[in-house]
Amino acid sequence: MLYKQIAFAVVIVAVVLAAAGIGAQAPAAYDLLIRDVRILDGTGAPWFRGDLAVRGDTIAAVGFVPRAEAGVVIEGKGQVLAPGFIDIHTHARRGILVVPTADNYTRQGVTTLIEGPDGSSPVPIAPFLARVAAVRTSANFGMFIGQGSVRDAVMGNMDRKATPAEIERMIQLVRDGMRDGAFGLSTGLFYTPGSYTPTEEVITLARAAGALGGRHVSHMRDEAAHVIDSVRETIRIGEEGSLPTQITHHKIIGTANWGKSVETLRLVEEARARGVDVTVDQYPYTASSTSIAAALLPKWALEGSQQDVVKRLSDPEQRRRIKQAAVNALKNERGGGDPTRVVISSCRWDPSLAGKNLAEITRGLGMEPTLENAAEAAMHIVERGGAQGIFHAVGEEDLQRILRFPLTMIASDGEVTVFGKDAPHPRSYGTFVRVLGVYVRDKQVLRLEEAVRRMTSLPAMRLGLAGRGIIRPGMKADLVLFDPQRVRDMATFENPHQYAEGIAWVVVNGQIIFDGKAMTAARPGRVLYGPAHDSSR
Ligand SMILES: [Zn+2]
Repeated sequence: MLYKQIAFAVVIVAVVLAAAGIGAQAPAAYDLLIRDVRILDGTGAPWFRGDLAVRGDTIAAVGFVPRAEAGVVIEGKGQVLAPGFIDIHTHARRGILVVPTADNYTRQGVTTLIEGPDGSSPVPIAPFLARVAAVRTSANFGMFIGQGSVRDAVMGNMDRKATPAEIERMIQLVRDGMRDGAFGLSTGLFYTPGSYTPTEEVITLARAAGALGGRHVSHMRDEAAHVIDSVRETIRIGEEGSLPTQITHHKIIGTANWGKSVETLRLVEEARARGVDVTVDQYPYTASSTSIAAALLPKWALEGSQQDVVKRLSDPEQRRRIKQAAVNALKNERGGGDPTRVVISSCRWDPSLAGKNLAEITRGLGMEPTLENAAEAAMHIVERGGAQGIFHAVGEEDLQRILRFPLTMIASDGEVTVFGKDAPHPRSYGTFVRVLGVYVRDKQVLRLEEAVRRMTSLPAMRLGLAGRGIIRPGMKADLVLFDPQRVRDMATFENPHQYAEGIAWVVVNGQIIFDGKAMTAARPGRVLYGPAHDSSR
């Protein structure tokens, strides 16, 4: 009897509330609800079917979210929902202030861009991070402090040992970088002035970064004939510097060196077995991209300023030696043995060179495109101010071996592009979706769960980003929804300005930044700071 009365009262209350429209006026339980998706949590675990709800900037519920109300509801229709991709190696600072939406990255599912690689960063980094915050980006943005830039700031682009006082100043700049929010120290020992830096000096700076929780990421001294020595050096920097260390954009350059990834990965495993925290990242292309000068001219010729370089090139004896080295680089290293394998991606003093290969440029200068003459053409380009190039000299077998290695994360090494401008490496548009389309779906080199792990939780762990990279309640809502059957890269070397396909929605900090067709007006990206960040600075 009592039970019936209570039940009756409940019905009455419900009817009254409904009549007053109270239910309709109550705030939505969630801000965003993504329904009926295959949830791939980023840990490598198998996907599971369910829903995901977001409140504010945070994932509020995952799995079965019954009859939830939400401000925005997305019907997932069984597509894959993954954590947003974290790109641990970008050159985004070239373009992020011009294109703060970073469309080429967003449209392949990237929600966090990490800058300052290859030993190159602003010094100090704080003013640049403030500008990034002010411009309001779509994606999150973080930085490393660059060893080469630090050395350049203290002693210039000089091929000599540092004095104890100079080393003290460099240590101070690295510490300042960490307190400004860097995630660690990057090196580019392939580039000047990194190439002039003894390993011991790098280790000293690595210790300073490591003592503040930083990591080391290296574009190694040599990715061609001496790649094995360079891997040893990268491991040594981690081991003696007492910090995690990473081989960035790991690849094997030059046909004569192909196959050496068997040995490089063995060295990484050995180091880990004795407790050195070594990891790897990679982009899925058989061509690299960097400046013509860095790729083809010897380091000694690049010391000092552009005028110094031009002076050396106008001295007959030095020019002869530079040419000899350039011929060797064209034959055995980034040239891939054929000047058609070197293609200009951008050139400030003659933008029309973008897209032309070195054989065409050599012919344009009235010479047969032999290796010797192509070396002349390369020197001609450097004399006039240089250019960025693309170098088709990376082995596919090594690429796949490195990709299968469980400690390899995916990173683009790309830049924020201005759509249609220059002829950039397609990695800027396609890195992440190329792995999902070509290497997961078509070639089946990796399982989907495993590929996504290398784009999400693995780089998040590397950076110490505890709140991102995994789908779980309480984590920040950086998300990408995609169709695993349709996802693919469209950008090619011939026609790089093509956005990825198959990405349906991209969410950063709970807000939709891409709806499958266009960028939205939302710019929810945040500056992310490393472990020693001191906000009072
Ligand atoms: Zn690099």
